[in-house]
Amino acid sequence: MPQPNTSYDAIVIGSGISGGWAAKELCEKGLKTLVLERGRNVEHLKDYPTALLAPWELPHKGATPRALLDANPLISKAAGYGEDTAHFFVKDADHPYEQEKPFDWIRGYQVGGKSLTWGRACQRWSPHEFVAPERLGYGMNWPIGYDDVADWYTHVERFVGVCGAADGLEAMPDGDFLPPFDFNCAELHLRVALRRRYRDRHVVQGRWAQLSEPREIHLQQGRGTCQARNLCMRGCPYGGYFSSVSSTLPWAQKTGNLTIRPDSVVHSILYDEAKGKASGVRVIDAHTQAINEYRARIIFVNASALNSTLILLNSTSRRFPNGLGNDAGVLGRYVAFHNYRASAHGTLDGLEDRYFYGRNPTECILVNFRNLGKQDADFVGGYTTFTGGYRTRGVDAATRLGGTYKDAQAQPGPWGLYMYMQGETVPKYDNHVRLHDTLKDPFGIPRLVTSVGYDDNDEAMIRDWLTQANEMLAAAGCRDIESRDNHQAPGLDIHEMGGCRMGRDPKTSMLNAWNQLHAVPNVFVTDGACMTSTGNQSPSILYMALTARAANHAVEELARQNL
Ligand SMILES: Cc1cc2nc3c(=O)[nH]c(=O)nc-3n(C[C@H](O)[C@H](O)[C@H](O)COP(=O)(O)OP(=O)(O)OC[C@H]3O[C@@H](n4cnc5c(N)ncnc54)[C@H](O)[C@@H]3O)c2cc1C
Ligand code: SF4
Repeated sequence: MPQPNTSYDAIVIGSGISGGWAAKELCEKGLKTLVLERGRNVEHLKDYPTALLAPWELPHKGATPRALLDANPLISKAAGYGEDTAHFFVKDADHPYEQEKPFDWIRGYQVGGKSLTWGRACQRWSPHEFVAPERLGYGMNWPIGYDDVADWYTHVERFVGVCGAADGLEAMPDGDFLPPFDFNCAELHLRVALRRRYRDRHVVQGRWAQLSEPREIHLQQGRGTCQARNLCMRGCPYGGYFSSVSSTLPWAQKTGNLTIRPDSVVHSILYDEAKGKASGVRVIDAHTQAINEYRARIIFVNASALNSTLILLNSTSRRFPNGLGNDAGVLGRYVAFHNYRASAHGTLDGLEDRYFYGRNPTECILVNFRNLGKQDADFVGGYTTFTGGYRTRGVDAATRLGGTYKDAQAQPGPWGLYMYMQGETVPKYDNHVRLHDTLKDPFGIPRLVTSVGYDDNDEAMIRDWLTQANEMLAAAGCRDIESRDNHQAPGLDIHEMGGCRMGRDPKTSMLNAWNQLHAVPNVFVTDGACMTSTGNQSPSILYMALTARAANHAVEELARQNL
């Protein structure tokens, strides 16, 4: 039997949003690239078993059965989890970790990672967000600024296909967008009402990885127009939204330079002391537990923020007894996330003669207006607010039975407006993850311990957001306004960041301005682990831009024989 090839130009660990981008860029540049993915294979179209099912064709008509919830009390909290999507999330029992403080670690272990189930929000960071922590005294500066990534954002947006409008707002810069979806009448009402009442509150269409009007590059990927079905998390039969399974991985495959190995759990990165470089990775076969080693000249670590950190912590050697590249002792530290605890909604009268069209898979955004340039609140950091208008149905259906119940369900009720926050949190040394001293996962790898919590700044931000949301809904004319702090644990935001942060100074950071480990430059970490601060925008498009930028730098450095 022929032996599998174990030697490549590049290895990419993880096949999700960032790993897919690393694979695409490296393969396009001619590097023989091995993608190692711990989960099963998922092929576009073929492996979307529920994509075309109507609710009545699902075993429980779309309701999540008690047995599934009881077996998965943690992962079933994730947005969009249900009997139609559970196959794209891990099972709680299979992947244990230890919560020193409550932390809901939401994962999707398969080819495509969480790119299959993500919400697809794709706003750019503002120039301000890169410098705010240092300028306003609550953190460390990034080693790069907006100008370093602006062209890479454009590069990514063009390939992914991001819809949105050009709003000309500094707090949420414009990009190369496809046409936005339409506002419904309640959203337009909110936009106008807030514009009248405030000078600094802008309701705009969000930016979403949704093909509202595909361009040639998207058709070449085999993807087509989004049909506004809003069933994206099942996998899209039209390729209407971006995932690595529908886009970057097949594109990389077409170059002939890609090898994907699913069911390959990366245990650690190997370090060659004589050369002062990483030489490859150690991998455990998910089915047989057999151990294999693969070699490459460069390694991209894209296993998602906490798993990338775990792999580096587990990559010990004489030179790096505390984890690869961990000279400063900051590996696993400065983990942060997005604060999603607060939401509000209210009923809006006066639009009963209007309805909406289709099932819009996007939402509007109320652009951050807090602490822009200078601090103007009793907390640091900013918040983005997602918002939208909806029309209810079957108002008093619950009190009816049989035919009258059905009739009530068919009747539109009043319009409503909702808002929820996505707040910046401050990376802190104490908010950390580490390896457990004794407990192992089913592959014999030390379990991750999460020790990450909220602080007073987060509480102050929540209080301000709730006050502002109530005031804005009232300004829009809503009645019966309800708002709440759901006290959810960190992690459920699914925007965990940090652990292997970028920075100028190797004494306080792990990665340089090109996402290379300061101490091991042929290892690149370009997923959320690299984030120096969290900003208030949805982060994944930045991971993609940083990955594309780092991959192109790696190729140049290889050509210069610097790696
Ligand atoms: C419901 C939901 C909604 C979201 N909405 C948004 C949104 O609107 N906007 C936004 O920006 N982000 C959103 N996110 C977050 C987004 O999905 C993540 O930020 C993004 O997927 C991170 O990309 P990644 O490449 O780092 O990780 P992933 O996409 O998670 O990919 C990591 C891959 O690495 C693999 N892996 C892990 N460990 C190993 C190992 N040891 N060996 C080999 N392989 C390994 C995993 O199996 C996985 O396939 C959402 C996520 C979810 C679940
Ligand atoms: S809303 Fe668009 S992208 Fe989502 S499943 Fe439907 S067609 Fe696909």
